[in-house]
Amino acid sequence: MTAVATPPTESRLSTAPRLNLIGGQWVDGLGSTVRRLVNPADSTQLLASVREASAAQVDEACAAAHKAYLTWRAVPAPDRARVLFKFRELLEANYLDLARSVVRENGKLLCEAKGSVRRGIDVVEFACGIPSQLMGQVLPDVSRDVDSYVLREPLGVVVGIPPFNFPAMIPLWMMPIAVACGNAFLLKPAEKAPLTATRLVELFAEAGLPSGLVGVLQGGKEVSERLIVHSHVQAISFVGSSAVAESVYRTAAQHGKRVQALGGAKNHLVVMPDADLQRSMQALIGSCFGCAGQRCLAGSVVVAVGNREQQDAVVNGFVNAARELVPGDGLDESATLCPVLSLEQRQRIHDCIDRGVKEGAKLLLDGRGLVVPSRPHGAFVGPTVFDHTTPDMFIGREEVFGPVVSILRAKDLDEAIALTNRSRYGNSASLFTRSGAAAREFRARIQAGMLGLNLGVPAPMANFSFGGWKGSFFGDLNAHGPDAVAFYTRKKVVTERWFGAEAPKDGWV
Ligand code: NAD
Repeated sequence: MTAVATPPTESRLSTAPRLNLIGGQWVDGLGSTVRRLVNPADSTQLLASVREASAAQVDEACAAAHKAYLTWRAVPAPDRARVLFKFRELLEANYLDLARSVVRENGKLLCEAKGSVRRGIDVVEFACGIPSQLMGQVLPDVSRDVDSYVLREPLGVVVGIPPFNFPAMIPLWMMPIAVACGNAFLLKPAEKAPLTATRLVELFAEAGLPSGLVGVLQGGKEVSERLIVHSHVQAISFVGSSAVAESVYRTAAQHGKRVQALGGAKNHLVVMPDADLQRSMQALIGSCFGCAGQRCLAGSVVVAVGNREQQDAVVNGFVNAARELVPGDGLDESATLCPVLSLEQRQRIHDCIDRGVKEGAKLLLDGRGLVVPSRPHGAFVGPTVFDHTTPDMFIGREEVFGPVVSILRAKDLDEAIALTNRSRYGNSASLFTRSGAAAREFRARIQAGMLGLNLGVPAPMANFSFGGWKGSFFGDLNAHGPDAVAFYTRKKVVTERWFGAEAPKDGWV
């Protein structure tokens, strides 16, 4: 195996011009679009200008990946796993740099960024166990002298298209398992935050992959679309907004590709009157305002259950705790609320808040116009809370993807479940209660793929699979865990006969 060349620049996390990995070489993009990336905490600080890959470069990367796959698929699974172990070592050695890179291009608090890189490493560790994961099923003697067994084989070239909000973690949901299963992998990083993901591929290549087996193609919609329909590409792992997820799912399926497309969310946090409010508040605030609300498991609707007084206790406690958040640069250890991705995202979120006001929801806490004196050019939005929203209002219905929360009020659990299930999304939902009976009912009736009980961010660990229901997911097999192994492989059932000696009348000794 030949390791691929590394990019020839010093500061690859921020300013490297050669950000496309094609056929084992780091090259400049040759497309027509150039994107300027700035620090979310300080929009005057340019991180990089990234030129996207051209159509010819996409084709070249696909051909190289296909060629590399033909040899990689024959590498024994334990040897493939050894490369994953090496990759894990490199990730650990670069852990802090990667987390800082996430802060710089995405804005997260350093603790949040570290957590996200750790979650990604967890998936690499899962992929290190690929020999066990790939073990098939066998039934000897399905008939006389006949045995049957199932083999799992790789697909070929697979493509990963992640969103901007987890620049390390989501590429790591995809790439390690795809490659461990014997596939080639092409990453099209999110054009709004592509630098950390590119660095991950660089480290993976350094771990000892054959040249061309992994690649990076910078770009947005056009590059994605060319990859999705490319004849060498067998499968697409997509994570992003629901509208795009659905369109990627349809296009990919029409072209006969395997596809998993994870979409957006509107997650409900239901707080029962018997909840331990004091201890639950941290989970509620963390869920709604952690990562500035820019995550698919972020709480976005708080459902306060009970009589008027009980509902008010939840609402007042929540608003008071939200007021305590300290916005700041993700590298500033005293900050507890990070900026959103960009000034464009800030404007989009402001527009959503304006819309909530126009719809008649009661704005209890307004995050518009927030300026952080030490970071006057940062894309900050303060915690925002609307009371008396309804599931029909835009603000109560649609994903805002920012630190904006709508309160719904319900008289009992039955009404709270009905309100939650009206959402067209079904990524996650959480219940806060001391009642086992309420928890069981919630678990049975709620229409969402990931549930939390007294937990605000019910993210499944790497050895479980991750995915929502309804408008939050398009496909059959979820991300990471056992579903990912199934997604990145196809089954072959072998039925074989070896003519043997006849068994003695009394059976073998
Ligand atoms: P997005 O949909 O704008 O972009 C996601 C990716 O798709 C990017 O790489 C982008 O370049 C590409 N893309 C854009 N338009 C495309 C098109 N027409 N065809 C093919 N590819 C296209 O999402 P975003 O703004 O980067 O990320 C935020 C969204 O991601 C939110 O909706 C959030 O809920 C969702 N998200 C979901 C999960 C999950 O697990 N369900 C996880 C993280 C984020």
